[in-house]
Amino acid sequence: MKLSRNNKKRIFKTVLSLGILLTTAFLVYFSISKFNSTSAKEGVKENSEGALEQPKEKEKIEHEKKKKPDGKPEGKVVYLTFDDGPSTLTGQFLDVLKEQKVKATFFMIGKNLQNAGFQENVKRAIKEGHYIGGHSMTHDSKRLYTDGQFVPEMKEALELIRNITGTNPTLVRSPYGSAPGLKDQQIRDQIVEAGIKVWDWTIDSRDWELKDNPNQIVENIKKGTTDDVEVILVHEKPQTLQALPEIIKYYKEKGYEFGVYQDVDHFHLNFQKDARL
Ligand SMILES: [Zn+2]
Repeated sequence: MKLSRNNKKRIFKTVLSLGILLTTAFLVYFSISKFNSTSAKEGVKENSEGALEQPKEKEKIEHEKKKKPDGKPEGKVVYLTFDDGPSTLTGQFLDVLKEQKVKATFFMIGKNLQNAGFQENVKRAIKEGHYIGGHSMTHDSKRLYTDGQFVPEMKEALELIRNITGTNPTLVRSPYGSAPGLKDQQIRDQIVEAGIKVWDWTIDSRDWELKDNPNQIVENIKKGTTDDVEVILVHEKPQTLQALPEIIKYYKEKGYEFGVYQDVDHFHLNFQKDARL
């Protein structure tokens, strides 16, 4: 069959229109699907490395949720705080904490930190996840609170910890507590200016005066436990080492988590009730 010239023209036109129609349809479909995938990605911004930031934001929200309005952690949390080290007993305290899978906070004295024989255990404490804050150089009440050496001594002790461990702590504990030592606003202003934070405690175990009486230390701590968040004052003493497994057992049975101080999660806890510290 022979097609007329007119017929050939009509077929050519039809094929051409079909082609244009298909191309247009494809282009429309392509732009719609691209638009959809862009809107799905909205809110999931990419950072400079191309990693999605959304999980990070979620993490942050969960982290914030764990804190109460006063900055204290949610739930039952006990902070064990060991003063006056490092000492000949530091290694044994670390052994018990490791065995019990418990983290703690240490407040160490500068003159003890200068003892080269103790420094391996100071490093070990950091390696095993504990926090080390300062507890002055001399522990001398007159020097610290009468002669104005509180801030200089704390700075020096914190610097020693920094040099030995490579951490950058800002928390200290006042020898004998912040009351009455830090009652003057002036000394507290100096502490704030130096960027130093001060922690007292919620439970005084009185362990230092209970030589050979670990049971009484445990009793004092049990009697003192009334809140969801407790900060226990103990020292690197032989009787405290003896009492430690029982103290840990008590809090585990009561459903407490063992908190370790972190600068980013600081909440104020000082007898002067100064929210800046
Ligand atoms: Zn002390």
